[in-house]
Amino acid sequence: MTDTPKKTLVRRAPWPASVSRPVVTPLQMSVVYASECPDQLDAQYAGRVPGYTYAREGHPNADMLSRMIDGLEGVEGGLIVGSGMAAVTAALMGLLSAGDHVIGADQLYGRSLRLMTQDLARFGIETSTADPTDAKAIAAAIRPNTKVIIIEIVSNPTLRLADMEGIAKLTRAKGITLVVDNTFTTPRGFQPIAHGADVVLHSVTKMLAGHADVTLGYVAARDPAQRKAIYDFAVTTGLTPSPFDCWLAERGMYSFTLRYDRAEQNAARLADHLASLTGVKRVLYPTRADHPDHNRAQHLLQGRGGHMVSFELTGGRDAANALTRAMPDVAFAPTLGDIGTTLSHPASSSHRNVSHAARAAVGISEGFFRISVGCEEIEILLEDFTRGVKAAAEVS
Ligand SMILES: *Cc1c(COP(=O)(O)O)cnc(C)c1O
Repeated sequence: MTDTPKKTLVRRAPWPASVSRPVVTPLQMSVVYASECPDQLDAQYAGRVPGYTYAREGHPNADMLSRMIDGLEGVEGGLIVGSGMAAVTAALMGLLSAGDHVIGADQLYGRSLRLMTQDLARFGIETSTADPTDAKAIAAAIRPNTKVIIIEIVSNPTLRLADMEGIAKLTRAKGITLVVDNTFTTPRGFQPIAHGADVVLHSVTKMLAGHADVTLGYVAARDPAQRKAIYDFAVTTGLTPSPFDCWLAERGMYSFTLRYDRAEQNAARLADHLASLTGVKRVLYPTRADHPDHNRAQHLLQGRGGHMVSFELTGGRDAANALTRAMPDVAFAPTLGDIGTTLSHPASSSHRNVSHAARAAVGISEGFFRISVGCEEIEILLEDFTRGVKAAAEVS
């Protein structure tokens, strides 16, 4: 056969020429990137020229998203990974080795605590937990081999404020790496790097992407050597995000500021409203004068309260069932950061495997709820919760 076909379906045609450019970020699903020649590939790997090679090592949709979050956090070179837990894993396993010790805040996200106490232990990494609202408790947990301390600024679900200043002073004095999971506060509420953190991470799944339709994480380190250690661990272990998920999250990010401010405004109104209702035992919201860490909250969050509100009914499980049944339009779902309000019940979800005594110690009863306040019109939200609390009070 001398006459080889000129047309084949197995070789992709070049992209159509155009003098105009798309306004919306293109979705780049390509796993591999072709280079001109080995010299060019060398130059790419050496970082002398920009270019992508293989999607597990990085792709443009992830970079578009990470640059947006970098800008909000005031840091460079952040990495997008497949979930918030991938970000926690990359930070801890990228920075710790066998024989090291890590301290975690005792109210960290449940899976983060599990990773530390169950999984890191299998790799010879020691873990302790301590109360982050008290820098003295953290100091008391420090050992000669302590390498990393990981905290959240606002805890889940009791919304306690970490002693960020006290802890940052400790880590700086002792050369310990301070990692902050900033998911709850978001960079609009608090910027950990400016307050002495070395590493900041997010579950982008929540408020940043904001529509409960992608699972993604973000992690950034201030120090280039730590950044590289985290990047290499994530790429080697394949914590890669999907380009489509990054594209969706980028789209969500354009309205992040608007959504956050609206949700926060709603949260402050809803917190005060709940506190006025019969059948509500207590309300936790950082800007309220009755919040246990009110002064620290005012100082760290600069008068802002965020989009999370927790409250406790006077009744128990029956009251809790009555409340969720009476307000079916508010999704009873264990997540946060969606555009609409969601409601979670820690005793039956995040804290179901925590003993009654340990739950009682942090004030999580059967009547305890956490609200991720959304962007609804406030009147609708107030009506929903008025109806829910009334139904709960009737069975208590
Ligand atoms: C949800 C969450 C995570 C885990 O994120 P995923 O995207 O679900 O893996 C970690 N930390 C905090 C504070 C979270 O709320």
